[in-house]
Amino acid sequence: MRTPQFLARGFLLAAFSLSGAAQPVLFEGARLIVGDGSAPVENSAFVVENNRIAQVGRKGQVTAPAGATRVDLTGKTVMPALVDTHTHVGWAVLRTGAIDKDTYTAENLIDHLRREAYYGIAAVQSMGIDRGDIAYDVRAHPVFDAALLHTAGRGMAMPNAGPGRSIWAPIAYGLQTEADARAAVRELAAKKVDLVKIWVDDRNGTVPKLTPALYRAVIDEAHKHNLRVAAHIFYLADAKELLRSGIDIFAHGIRDRDVDDEAIALFKQHPNVWVIPNLPDRETTDADIRLAAETLPPAEVQKMRSARAAVNPDDAKKARDFYNLQARNLAKLSAAGVHIAFGTDSSTAVGWNGHQELTDMVAAGLTPSQVIVDATKNAAELMKLDQLGAVAIGKSADFLVLDANPLDNINNTRRITRVYLRGRELDRAAMRAAWVKP
Ligand SMILES: [Zn+2]
Repeated sequence: MRTPQFLARGFLLAAFSLSGAAQPVLFEGARLIVGDGSAPVENSAFVVENNRIAQVGRKGQVTAPAGATRVDLTGKTVMPALVDTHTHVGWAVLRTGAIDKDTYTAENLIDHLRREAYYGIAAVQSMGIDRGDIAYDVRAHPVFDAALLHTAGRGMAMPNAGPGRSIWAPIAYGLQTEADARAAVRELAAKKVDLVKIWVDDRNGTVPKLTPALYRAVIDEAHKHNLRVAAHIFYLADAKELLRSGIDIFAHGIRDRDVDDEAIALFKQHPNVWVIPNLPDRETTDADIRLAAETLPPAEVQKMRSARAAVNPDDAKKARDFYNLQARNLAKLSAAGVHIAFGTDSSTAVGWNGHQELTDMVAAGLTPSQVIVDATKNAAELMKLDQLGAVAIGKSADFLVLDANPLDNINNTRRITRVYLRGRELDRAAMRAAWVKP
């Protein structure tokens, strides 16, 4: 397939970054959060060489290779870059807020991935509404200052009953028979999707729900092709039946009622299953809007402020109740030892809302350390990105430098002073300046 001009440019820049970062760099003095839940290394030192972490230790105990540049990070905190396992990147035009059937383009998808990177997210997974071959092309040509992309390609549901917006409905496979289900999985396997996405939801009684016979055919065929299946769910009863049917990943938490003992027992019988909670927004704070404003033009920020001011108390209470239910379920599943991986389900709020999700996960009762593990080590593990998820020897040098310690207050993940992806520092000031221009 034809490689568009800008993809070729991205590829050249990526190649340049590989050759340009050959000189080793010694980072000294930061508090280092490794990403595995261990106690942070105070006054750390680590060496980045050939875009990888070559040494990690305490300052004074790490020997810098000859010719190394030194970067003094005294007073700062370093943590691994985040990984978002559930997104819908590429659709919304973030400069204008436009979203329609034609707004999904390669240029816009790359714009989203650069915004994710700006906020410290090294990789994202797109969950089932990628049109044509665009996502496969972008996945194959990483851009140096953008997040890596994984994709489920086109997800599956009953006809016209999948994703939440009408413009997305034609993207999904509409399954009617088990033969349809198996043929769709084979088509995706030929495209080398990273996973298969299904929607198992009746959208509050408005659309037919994917039947167990159909999703079992999807799961069986996917497993034959060594692919995992992620299910959008809403109801506890569906979560149970999917667990019995061999599901691999829940792309949402359980949203209709509290998780019960039977569900916990089913999770324990299926210990490799992942849950991506992507909690609903508890509220939008001034701090959230300030963070979004780093990458949005003033008119878009004003729309956010107006939308926030227009929320009536009844809707605010409903939103809080919806959040509280899912927060209880997240806390219960996490305490039961279920694998939790960070995800945002973002489509129109890109990058900044990852930090809102971290805040919401801590508000649900998880510790900042647990949430950081869910958003780094665990999320990388779910996406099988072995090179990400930790600042440790051999890993890709993808990390954030923060002005304050997120173990003290999770909101400190927002206080980003530098982002490094694949060994190279992003020019965040230039990115920001281009995005906020009116
Ligand atoms: Zn989603």
